[in-house]
Amino acid sequence: MKRVAVLTSGGDAPGMNAAVRSVTRSAIFRGLEVVGVRRGYEGLLEGDLIPLTKSSVGGIIHRGGTILRTARSDRFRRPEGINEAVQQLKSFDIDGLVVIGGDGSFRGAWELVDRGFPVVGVPATIDNDIAGTDMTIGFDTAINTALEAVKKIRDTASSHDRLFIIEVMGREAGFLALEVAVASGAECVLVPERPVELGRLCDKLHYARNRGKTHSLIILAEGVMAAHELAEQLLDTGGYDSRITVLGHLQRGGSPTAFDAVLASRMGTAALEGLLEGQKGVMAVYRHGGMELVPLSLAWEQKKRLNHELLDLVEKLSI
Ligand code: ATP
Repeated sequence: MKRVAVLTSGGDAPGMNAAVRSVTRSAIFRGLEVVGVRRGYEGLLEGDLIPLTKSSVGGIIHRGGTILRTARSDRFRRPEGINEAVQQLKSFDIDGLVVIGGDGSFRGAWELVDRGFPVVGVPATIDNDIAGTDMTIGFDTAINTALEAVKKIRDTASSHDRLFIIEVMGREAGFLALEVAVASGAECVLVPERPVELGRLCDKLHYARNRGKTHSLIILAEGVMAAHELAEQLLDTGGYDSRITVLGHLQRGGSPTAFDAVLASRMGTAALEGLLEGQKGVMAVYRHGGMELVPLSLAWEQKKRLNHELLDLVEKLSI
């Protein structure tokens, strides 16, 4: 292997730059040339490639977003597009590719592997919804960013004796909502993995109010319903007047936490080393404190399960 490429795809996540740096520097350390593909698979189809050097990835480890930019590509979803992408990789003399992204990006990566091209994945998404890895790049930063906002809301909620609904990201998975709920000491958490029991929620709020709690926080994953819908339902069902905050895209931004910068550095290098060992169709994951390579297909064949111990904690600790 002489020349490798790296790309970021799907939603951006803090720590992607640290992963790009890690892949690049460890490849150069091993005597390889490195190119960066801009704008994910779309950029690959357009031949939008740039050389990456030791210095071009300098000063980016702490930067949010991705210097390579990211994009969604409908063209790449079609067989003709994927074949064209393989041709592009070959025409640029690329021998292996590292794909940094979420499950959709890994499905795309698998299509390339299926056509004989070596690809190794690095799981990066603030949702942490990829089976096979305990943590994805960006998740820890998103938790901390959301938590900072929730702490500020808690101050105002307690001063005004208010019920707050805080909507966090998570269309299909409640990992972020759950961690934020535990870390912020929220009264309730609503996640897509569990049906909403409005009666029970109202009982809980009623009980909290009766025992003199000055405020309550509900952490809501966006996939359950919109915050304003929940506010309407709480008003109709229990007469509760609430304030809502939708954290939105601020959860994606910012400098990666130390944990994410370290995780990205470890995963990027593990992916590159995997490519050099002749591995393909695998992703570099973090399990039980160490790095492992597991099949990419885990990302779409297995559904990562929510930690029920944490769900119980929210219940127990908010009495
Ligand atoms: P996140 O969920 O964090 O946003 P993701 O990697 O899952 O990240 P997607 O938008 O699902 O994001 O996928 C990124 C890109 O991967 C798509 O725009 C598409 O080009 C490619 N892709 C997704 N699914 C497939 C598939 N089944 N076959 C080929 N390519 C795919």
